[in-house]
Amino acid sequence: MKRAAPIALSAALLALGACQNLPAGDAAAPVDATHRKLLTLDTHLDSPVHFGRQGWSFGERHDMRSDIAQLDLPRMEDGNLDGGFFAVFTPQGPLTPDGYAQALRWAQARSLQIDQTVTRFGDRIGAARDAVDAPALQASGKLVAYKSIENSYPLGDSVALLSDFQRQGVRLVGVVHTANNQFADSATDQPRWNGLSPLGRDWVKEMNRLGMVIDASHASDAVFDQLLAQSRAPILLSHSGSRAMFNHPRNLDDARLRKLAAAGGALCFTTIYLGNVQMGPEREALFDKVEHISSLNPAEQADLIARWNALDATTPLWNASFEQYMAALLHVISVAGVDHVCFGADFDGGGGIAGLEQVTALPRITQRLKGAGYSDADLEKMWSGNVLRILREAERHRTITGGD
Ligand SMILES: [Zn+2]
Repeated sequence: MKRAAPIALSAALLALGACQNLPAGDAAAPVDATHRKLLTLDTHLDSPVHFGRQGWSFGERHDMRSDIAQLDLPRMEDGNLDGGFFAVFTPQGPLTPDGYAQALRWAQARSLQIDQTVTRFGDRIGAARDAVDAPALQASGKLVAYKSIENSYPLGDSVALLSDFQRQGVRLVGVVHTANNQFADSATDQPRWNGLSPLGRDWVKEMNRLGMVIDASHASDAVFDQLLAQSRAPILLSHSGSRAMFNHPRNLDDARLRKLAAAGGALCFTTIYLGNVQMGPEREALFDKVEHISSLNPAEQADLIARWNALDATTPLWNASFEQYMAALLHVISVAGVDHVCFGADFDGGGGIAGLEQVTALPRITQRLKGAGYSDADLEKMWSGNVLRILREAERHRTITGGD
């Protein structure tokens, strides 16, 4: 989610509800023993938007009363989240050679910035590539940093660049974002290709060949259907919800959820589109600034954060409660089964609701699922096992040698 194309910011934001976070303050949930011992992964972390901020460090603890970052190493290390997929998100511009070139430079810089940040804190977090890496890092007492791509727009008119990103460690790639691109139709745009474009079909083959996991969040229904039919490996949705519980094109309907499960895939449940997005002109303007927060000096950042939090106090971005989140999550689990659900809150990219404002609140989900009767084994699957299984499946279908 988050920031939209520079040339169509308003439309994309309104269509999509890209967004950043939420209200100040939040009672950190106590990390019960179950949550602490689980390997917990989130499949869509937009936190790299903060990595380049002047005066801000991923290694320091931040308070949401004075900052807007929804996670950092100390809050993860408290036992709330062991890791996840840090996204190389690229806002979409024009589908032209110049647009592609500019986007590619952006994506390469963001990918490098993630690598540099992980390296800088290498005693606390490690780069993960394949499925075996996450449990190994956890065993060594480190957090886990996989890398993903949100929006394949920077690849331009060739899928060959996917292999470059694969060599740089990317293992999960979303085909499209809030507007149609050269590969596929978006859930929040009018059909152009009626699914995947011819280039999009090449993209699927190349993803399978490279052993990378296909991410269908933001894809239109027709794209979802075609990805499911054409991919040789299971797919996942890194941050999506239930259309039966809130009718929005970004959410997946129950029939498709069953097909996804039957094909071995998983839906990583998110905090967005549980209810209406409250996106007025003021929020829209702030949103754009948040996406560029790394270009602001500390005083400008503080001003932005104050205005963001003031707006949250009167008009939260999402009109949704933690109870709605749990009801929709339980619905998704009941339809898909515990082998086909995972988590992708969309922190630092528009996610977060009252009661689930930041990473410190994640143990609440575990507590509630335990209360609903789910076993520790079920929780382990949903918090990481299913995602790691899908990574392994992608690796099994990889037909190149020396994937790293
Ligand atoms: Zn998104």
